Amino acid sequence: MQKYPMFVDGRNHEPAGGEWFLTDDPFQGKPWAEIARGGQRDVDEAVEAAHRAFPGWADLTASARGALLRTLGDALAGHAERLARLEVRDNGKLLSEMHAQLSYLPQWFHYYGGLADKIEGTVVPLDKKGYFAYTQKEPLGVVAIITPWNSPLMLLAWKLAPALAAGCTVVVKPSEYTSASTVEFVRLLHTAGLPPGVVNVVTGFGHDVGAALVAHPLVRKVSFTGADTTGRQINAAAARDLKPVSLELGGKSPNIVFADADLDAAVNGVVSGIFAATGQTCIAGSRLLVQDTVHDEVVRRVVDLAGTARMGDPADPATQIGPITTPAQHAKVLDYIDIALAEGATLALGGSAATRPECGDGWFVEPTIFTGVDNGMRIAQEEVFGPVLAVIPFSDEQHAVEIANDSRFGLGAGVWTSDIARAFRMAQRIRSGTVWVNTYRAVSYLAPFGGVKDSGIGRENGIGAVHAYLEDRCVWINTGAETGNPFVLR
Ligand code: NAD
Repeated sequence: MQKYPMFVDGRNHEPAGGEWFLTDDPFQGKPWAEIARGGQRDVDEAVEAAHRAFPGWADLTASARGALLRTLGDALAGHAERLARLEVRDNGKLLSEMHAQLSYLPQWFHYYGGLADKIEGTVVPLDKKGYFAYTQKEPLGVVAIITPWNSPLMLLAWKLAPALAAGCTVVVKPSEYTSASTVEFVRLLHTAGLPPGVVNVVTGFGHDVGAALVAHPLVRKVSFTGADTTGRQINAAAARDLKPVSLELGGKSPNIVFADADLDAAVNGVVSGIFAATGQTCIAGSRLLVQDTVHDEVVRRVVDLAGTARMGDPADPATQIGPITTPAQHAKVLDYIDIALAEGATLALGGSAATRPECGDGWFVEPTIFTGVDNGMRIAQEEVFGPVLAVIPFSDEQHAVEIANDSRFGLGAGVWTSDIARAFRMAQRIRSGTVWVNTYRAVSYLAPFGGVKDSGIGRENGIGAVHAYLEDRCVWINTGAETGNPFVLR
């Protein structure tokens, strides 16, 4: 069985405790590789390596850092196929989705590489005579990046590229369920010329390795993507040491279809919103809000399209719905189906584990649609993180806004309408980090992404993301001859 050691200070790193754990192939339903189980000593070594590398990395000219980032992007493009297949094996993601993600990911390194030497300080237009003041943007130091299992490399790149452009060094802790691609990816970055210690990987479990990383005194920032419950723990732990955090958490995003929408496009967007990536995405459009006059037609068409989706081997380019990544998540999705039935929702499609022959021994769930859902039900309020859609009818715009905003989450929202004025009104009124109009699940390195309410703190992507890894230093210079009164504020 293949073994994945950690990667620290530019080298493979065996676990100090000598322990390894198994990682599964979700389509085969069995382990395929061993991952190093890190502990406190491994975390210490990785953070110290990042701390040692920090002055050299931060002192490179921003242009040199930028050029190297662009080289890393090119290296990633050159190894996209290998990394895609690795993720399909370890995570069960569709090969077609991984091709799309990995052919796009180099853009993060090219964009933030380009941005690195455009980060400028300011001259402060002071209100006091005899002084000159300017600001400089300074990298925060060692950043801990903690990622979930659903899109390991994409979510890592969203954090890593701006952190490196800013001049920070990094220790990454990938999910214990999908660590292999991160280890391979960071190895690749070093082969492409990244200096040792600038990016390190410790693998292992959240409660020990993840928590130790967050608590490490040399870590100066935590950038996390994952469940909101974990995000709260990390925020509380980081607060003890006054460490800033970026938290990209979950969602229960509404996909809102008005009667005046292009229903072909809307049905396509609804199916894409909840069944792409097997619903295992933070931006899953897991609540379909549909205007009552077109409710039956939209439901029928969504059921028809989802019902014909091809399930099976994620490595087959024709497959449209792959397995659930972990047995625990598989059980959780099935639990939510039982909860929805017990709450009185009506099953319109699916509702069970998939036992089709093409699903083999994998952890599959049939695409599942519930109608007759009330927004107060758990199936409408809690994140399932699987292929389960809750359909909620609404009467008019005001009603749609009320239902959409009646959620503790606020990550994404879709609005389907042919009325441009309504589109603007809805975009203004929905409390959500992203609103998509007549599309869904579109992301870009250029477009800020993140949540409001329980969906998180901070934004990734776009120019603003690099500032999450920087802080201002303000320098005052006395250009006057006077020595002031020592007992008075100058
Ligand atoms: P998770 O919170 O269980 O784990 C995420 C990471 O945190 C893992 O690496 C885990 O080992 C680590 N971790 C766990 N406990 C920790 C602790 N106490 N201290 C430090 N690290 C700890 O999440 P998951 O199950 O891997 O991912 C699914 C969740 O992620 C969903 O809720 C989903 O919505 C969310 N998500 C959000 C986004 C986004 O951008 N908003 C993107 C993808 C996934």
